[in-house]
Order: sequence, then C-alpha cells, then structure tokens
Amino acid sequence: MRLEGGCACGAVRYKLNAAPLIVHACHCTDCQCITGSAFAVNIWIEREFVESVGIRPKSFILRKGSGRDHEVFFCAACGTYVWSRYGRVPGDTLFVRAGTLDKPRAVKPDVHIFTRSKAPWLELPADTPTFKAFYPMDKIWPATSLERLRGNIAKARTASASRKRSAR
Ligand SMILES: [Zn+2]
Ligand SMILES: [Zn+2]
Repeated sequence: MRLEGGCACGAVRYKLNAAPLIVHACHCTDCQCITGSAFAVNIWIEREFVESVGIRPKSFILRKGSGRDHEVFFCAACGTYVWSRYGRVPGDTLFVRAGTLDKPRAVKPDVHIFTRSKAPWLELPADTPTFKAFYPMDKIWPATSLERLRGNIAKARTASASRKRSAR
C-alpha cells in the first residue's frame, strides 16, 4: 500500500513509503480545533517514510491541550493542516492527517482516543477499541508496528547523540 496525498491547493504533496504504524481517530480538543471538526484521523508513521515532494509545509507550535511541543504543519498557500509532530512522543515520527490523502478511504481508524472530549452526538463503531485518553500501545499495536517504533526510537537516540557530539 503506497499512500499519497497533499493539501487542498496542491502545493504540498507527499508520499507515504510505508504502511501506517497505527491509525488514530483522535477526539482531543487540539485535533478538534485545528481541523475545525469533531475529530482528526491521524496516520502515525516514521518521519523518514513521509516523502515531502511539493513545497515544504510551514509550522507553528500549538500550546493548548497537549501542553508542550505539538508542532503543526500546514500549507503556506492554502492553510490545509497536513501533519503534526509531538515533542513528547519518543522517536522521530509524524501524525499525517488522513483526510489529506488522495484516497482518504484507504485507511480506517484502528483506535478511537481521547473520547472524553468526543462530540456527544457522535456514535462510535462498537468493533473499534475506544479510550477516554491515551492507551496501552502494547495491547493495541501489531507486533510489527511496535518493532518498527522501537527501531525508530533507537535510531533517533543515536542521531541526537551524534548531533551533540559534533556540536562540541
Ligand atoms: Zn496548499
Ligand atoms: Zn488529538
């Protein structure tokens, strides 16, 4: 599965060169605010597998609900939010908005999270796990995804250690 997408005006384009680690439907108030909607569908994936092929998205740091270092990336021309990066998440990964895929129906949420702020009129599917806040990843993620994330965290640690060494 190779997913591609982009912003509303087409200036930002990207390819996902791996399958998602996991797909979240996130009902947190940050996701509601930046999408202007009831929830966001976020593809969690290693940054190295997000190939940005159009103009580089701009970003700002959102300091609302999640509190620290939530960097939100958007197209400077049309303002479409394309992905986020969370400072508190270990490793080097992005949360790509599935609504910006050329074929958004190619993915389906594996889990609904932060349902404590879910829109009250929204009924969630009974066959998908739901959590009031975050969740135990080892209970929900496939083993291959856990393995990929562990590898990504190790790689990010090595990279930041070598950056520190060369800065000396
Ligand atoms: Zn655009
Ligand atoms: Zn969220």
